Order: sequence, then C-alpha cells, then structure tokens
Amino acid sequence: MTQIMDPCHPETVRVAASHQAQARQIADELAAIAATGMVLPGSITQRRTRCGRDNCACHADPPRLHGPYWQWTRKIAAKTVGRWLSPAQREDYQPWIDNDRRLRDLLAGLEALGAAALEADPRWKREPAHRRTTQNSP
Ligand SMILES: [Zn+2]
Repeated sequence: MTQIMDPCHPETVRVAASHQAQARQIADELAAIAATGMVLPGSITQRRTRCGRDNCACHADPPRLHGPYWQWTRKIAAKTVGRWLSPAQREDYQPWIDNDRRLRDLLAGLEALGAAALEADPRWKREPAHRRTTQNSP
C-alpha cells in the first residue's frame, strides 16, 4: 500500500492493492514497449494520387489513380508533415505506430487510475460544503 503524507494532516492518501496491481501491470507493458525503441507517432495511410499530366489516365472519367502509395504523417505544432514510404518501409514501421498507440492507451489507463483514486478519497466527505463549492469553481 502506497502512502503519501499530507503535510497539513496526519492522514495519508491510501491506494488500494488492486490499484497498485493494475499500475504495476501497466508499467510492465509500458517498459516492455519502450525497451524495443520502436515507437513512432502519427499514422500511415494509403494514398492514390493524380499527376500533373492532363492526358494521363488519372484524369480520365472514371479516373485511374496512381498508387497505392503509403504515406506516414504526423502533426507538429498543428501542421501536418509527412514522408512517402516504400511498401517494405510501411511494413517495418506500422508496428512502431501500433506501439505508440498502445503507449497512449496505457498512459490513459494510468491516468484513469489516478483520477479514480482522487474521486474515491474519503476526505472529500469531510470537507466543509462551502470549501467544496469554492474548489469546484473555475
Ligand atoms: Zn497521372
């Protein structure tokens, strides 16, 4: 059981054993993924494109587009950047993208545990009503 001392009260934040077990499980998987070093943000999507030649089949009706090509994209400061990938690169990097998604899910799970612990804190019930109202206001 993890205990964090409150400097103003002799009480502690008590975390249930099940909470710790879940956190340990998340930490193990996080560490295992991180240790591979194979983590890539963004996504890989299949693209079919039109070229600049007016008489090309890609401008016909119905169009026969070029591709499929694979493009890796990610957002940096609200701007999307990307690179074209070969089919072999796409196969190599897709698992990296999947790892990144899993890391985010695991982190969200850890945060949910923390939020649930805070909500379950028995000291909420002992707080005077006026203080609770003040704390909940922005
Ligand atoms: Zn074309």
